[in-house]
Amino acid sequence: MSSETIVIDGSQGEGGGQVLRTSLALSAVTGVPLRITNIRSRRRQPGLMRQHLAAVRAVSEVCGATVRGDEVRSLELEFTPGPITHGDRSFKVGTAGSATLVCQTVLWPLLATPGRSVISFEGGTHNPMAPPFEFLQRVFLPHMRRLGLDIAATLEQAGFYPAGGGRFVVELEGGYPPAPVELHGRGEILSCEALAFVANLPNHIAHRELAVVQRDLNWSPEQCHAIELDGRGPGNALCLIVKAEAGAEVATGFGEKGLLAELVAERACAQLQAWLDADVPVGEHLADQLLIPMALAAAADGQASSFVSTTPTLHARTNAQVIARFLPVEFEFEPIDERRGWVRARPR
Ligand code: ATP
Repeated sequence: MSSETIVIDGSQGEGGGQVLRTSLALSAVTGVPLRITNIRSRRRQPGLMRQHLAAVRAVSEVCGATVRGDEVRSLELEFTPGPITHGDRSFKVGTAGSATLVCQTVLWPLLATPGRSVISFEGGTHNPMAPPFEFLQRVFLPHMRRLGLDIAATLEQAGFYPAGGGRFVVELEGGYPPAPVELHGRGEILSCEALAFVANLPNHIAHRELAVVQRDLNWSPEQCHAIELDGRGPGNALCLIVKAEAGAEVATGFGEKGLLAELVAERACAQLQAWLDADVPVGEHLADQLLIPMALAAAADGQASSFVSTTPTLHARTNAQVIARFLPVEFEFEPIDERRGWVRARPR
């Protein structure tokens, strides 16, 4: 490996898969080789799992990287990126692991480089602990387009854990650095909608979840929709979608075997209520996902960014630490009160 290799300790901070994904994306964007040690060492099953390996393979394909240590359970990876190329590609997680997380990794090198790509992603589209497709489509991508990035996604087939088999297609045109992020107020709420998805499960699950939404959030039956999907295995997700002037939020509850539908819905309602009560434009998950474009804006144009969000998590702080190893940016987290905080990025 070259002398300028960036060495990342995968156990730092939150010590999960995001440390790996951010490092891979930014190694490819900057062309700087990466060595990452102690991969996901704070997780119950440490090392590279199938979906992390899918991210490694996807990023290495788009930048022609030389890779060592790309095996399931591997705790260490050496990644030497080459030139980024566009084109039509298909990436398969190979299990029900989250395909949206693979997408959110590989899109950064592609968006950083001039050219057009049409990419199909296969795997899980609705996984616990990852952005469901609705979050990607209604929260993350509209924010990216507001920053001037040219990217859109279409769901072709939903895939739930543990069966997987989902598919979506992303079209993007790279070569434009993101504009700085400025999200200080939420603005008016424009619409609220609940989507209860079931695949190969009885429809009453969706209706019971929607009854909780009507009771806990006081939403009307017209705002609540039960949707039956085709899918490889059983699956259920409840997405609560609020559109505000500054952008949308999607809070999701995932059905699990042995978990009452009412409980799935109550948890999703509580998550959404916390965001509504905080009166902020950015929720916990979007906060994680805005840090890379903020850093790219700082690196490309020397522009500072800032947003107000629900109290930033250790996950977000860890992501900021990793990003600052690759790009000339400084992040600052400043609490406002017990449920809100500022996140700022400025060029370093
Ligand atoms: P690990 O098992 O190592 O934790 P992981 O690969 O699942 O790894 P995390 O490090 O937990 O990854 O990162 C998950 C990412 O998914 C984060 O960016 C988080 O904000 C996002 N995320 C999790 N749940 C949701 C959700 N319900 N809606 C939107 N985004 C989500």
